[in-house]
Amino acid sequence: MSESGNIVVIGGGHAAAQLCAGLAEAGLGARVHLVCEEAELPYQRPPLSKAFLKTEQEALQPLRAEAWYATAGITLHRADAAVAIDRAQRSVRLRSGTALGYEQLVLATGARVRSLPALAHATLSNVAALRGAADAQRLRAQLHAAARVTVLGGGFIGLEIAATARALGKQVTVLEAAPRLLQRSVSPELAEHVLQTHRAAGIDIRMGVAVGEFEVQGDRVEALQVDGMREAVELLVLGIGAVPEHALATEAGLNCGNGIEVDAFMRTSDPHVLAIGDCANVPDSRGSRRLRLESVQNANDQARTAVATLLGRSEPYSALPWFWSEQGGLRLQMAGLMSADAERFRRAGATPASFSILHYVGDRLLCVESANAPLDHLAARKLLEAGKSPAPALACDAAVPLKAHV
Ligand SMILES: Cc1cc2nc3c(=O)[nH]c(=O)nc-3n(C[C@H](O)[C@H](O)[C@H](O)COP(=O)(O)OP(=O)(O)OC[C@H]3O[C@@H](n4cnc5c(N)ncnc54)[C@H](O)[C@@H]3O)c2cc1C
Repeated sequence: MSESGNIVVIGGGHAAAQLCAGLAEAGLGARVHLVCEEAELPYQRPPLSKAFLKTEQEALQPLRAEAWYATAGITLHRADAAVAIDRAQRSVRLRSGTALGYEQLVLATGARVRSLPALAHATLSNVAALRGAADAQRLRAQLHAAARVTVLGGGFIGLEIAATARALGKQVTVLEAAPRLLQRSVSPELAEHVLQTHRAAGIDIRMGVAVGEFEVQGDRVEALQVDGMREAVELLVLGIGAVPEHALATEAGLNCGNGIEVDAFMRTSDPHVLAIGDCANVPDSRGSRRLRLESVQNANDQARTAVATLLGRSEPYSALPWFWSEQGGLRLQMAGLMSADAERFRRAGATPASFSILHYVGDRLLCVESANAPLDHLAARKLLEAGKSPAPALACDAAVPLKAHV
């Protein structure tokens, strides 16, 4: 195989693994070079904030076994990051010095945790953030050694870590600057339920707080200012979101804004370069805005679209977005995207802790959020994919399963 036929994939996460699977299925595995900065084979990232933190017995879950890559003919470059892209020469340089020529390049570099300017570049022994396996191993050890945990940020990952820490018997405080939890991601009604559930489990959640100065001594943060009051810290976990990893793309002159800008076929501003997953900013097939989503579904479905593009098929990205989060006994599942002008209706479940919230704009069903109602979630995905909108009164009749309307 000539080097000019190479497909180089940068990134070793969910999007890259799904792309490799699609290319292998199409018989193109032998042309693929997978460049992973991490030493591990691509693995399941969601468990890192959940089961993985609980016990040393919990291992990383590879998405595919090493033998699978060998059988597919895929060349793995592990523990070696791509450091530069030369688009004129169609070549990628790795940290090891290796140069890989490509016919097509796929960027699947994901996202990295947002850091705080006050703590940036510091290697503080009692501060943690969570993105990859190495972070999770470090956080697991820190959690087990600590009695008190302060989580900065009431987003999905912060709350998942808080719930896991509480399940381990830790005293947990969550500090959120916004007036409510999960402000950008879920409805006020669902956020309130999440708040009450965590409070009932003994997590101290404070919202609308202003976090000020950090008191650093040696390699530790000893305290922080919360609403002007000193708050002692034993272990501080940053859960303040993620930013797209697009430094390589920017340096290579590709169009980037909030992520690497791609068209509906995952092509960047260079037709020989595609981008997928958390790092990609894609046109919303259901509206006029652009979107950058952080979910396993999005990574997998964009990888499928990219495979089609690489195979010369024109299949624009139009998958229904869906997401899940597990926070202790709380299983949240979302299908579709929220809209600020939606009207919301509640569909009760078998217990008060089990319900769904249906979002309608006019008579069109747009989004369904479910709390401990997995059957509603599955039915909602089918309804939304089929573009069906049962009237709210029918859809919220708890005596009739939602799937009856599919
Ligand atoms: C702790 C945690 C829990 C989550 N829980 C959920 C959940 O419950 N449900 C859900 O739907 N989603 C969840 N997500 C989000 C989901 O995991 C991501 O949306 C998904 O992993 C995105 O896939 P990706 O391939 O785009 O990026 P990633 O999986 O982040 O992979 C990107 C990879 O690229 C590598 N990389 C970056 N730059 C380079 C370079 N220059 N050279 C080589 N390699 C490079 C990185 O090291 C990384 O391995 C969670 C995320 C985290 C961090």
